[in-house]
Amino acid sequence: MKNIVLFGPPGVGKGTKAALLKERYQLIHISTGDVFRFNIKNNTPLGILAKSFIDKGNLVPDKVTIDMLKTEVDKNLNSNGIIFDGFPRTKLQATTLDDYLAIKGTQIYAMIALEVPENILVERLLKRGLTSNRPDDQDENKIRNRFNEYQTKTAVLINYYAAQNKFYGVNGVGSIKEITARLCAVFDNL
Ligand code: ADP
Repeated sequence: MKNIVLFGPPGVGKGTKAALLKERYQLIHISTGDVFRFNIKNNTPLGILAKSFIDKGNLVPDKVTIDMLKTEVDKNLNSNGIIFDGFPRTKLQATTLDDYLAIKGTQIYAMIALEVPENILVERLLKRGLTSNRPDDQDENKIRNRFNEYQTKTAVLINYYAAQNKFYGVNGVGSIKEITARLCAVFDNL
C-alpha cells in the first residue's frame, strides 16, 4: 500500500486534488472532514458531537477522530493505498497513525503539503462558503480560528514528517492541472 498524507491549511485544495489522485492511481481517499459531514447530515451521535466543534472552527477531540479514522482504515486494508486528507492534524494523531499502520504491516510513504499564501486561502474559503452550505466557511472569525488551530496544533507535523525524510512541499498556486502534475511527480517517485 502506497499511503500518503495530503497536507495543508484549510482551503488549500486538498479535497479536489485527492479526488484526482484517487482516480489516477486507484487509491482510497479518506477525508475526515467528509466523514464528519456525512455523520452530521445523518444526525448520528458522532455527527451531533462533531458538529459542536466544527461549527466553531475548532478541532474535534483526538479520541473521537482517531476512533473514526481507525474504522475507515480497517475497511480499506486491501487497497493500493490510502490518501489521508485532513488527518493527522495533531501530533497524537500522527503518532497513533504511524503505530496503527505499523501493526497492519504498512506505513506512510510521504506527507505531500500543498503550499498557498494565507490571504488567498481566506478569500477562497469565504467564496466556497457562498455555495457550500458549510457554516465553518461562512464567517471570517470561524475561518481565522481554523487557521489558528492549524498554526498551533497542526503545522508542527511538517517537522514530524521531515524528521522521517517524508516531507514534500508542493506549490499549490496555479491551475488544477499544473498542481496535479506537481503532485504526481512526487507520487511517481515514492
Ligand atoms: P478544511 O481543511 O477546509 O478546514 P476539513 O473538511 O478537512 O476542512 O475539516 C473540517 C473540520 O472538521 C475541521 O475544521 C475540524 O473541525 C474537523 N476535523 C477534520 N479532520 C479533523 C482531525 N483530523 N482532527 C480534528 N478535527 C478534524
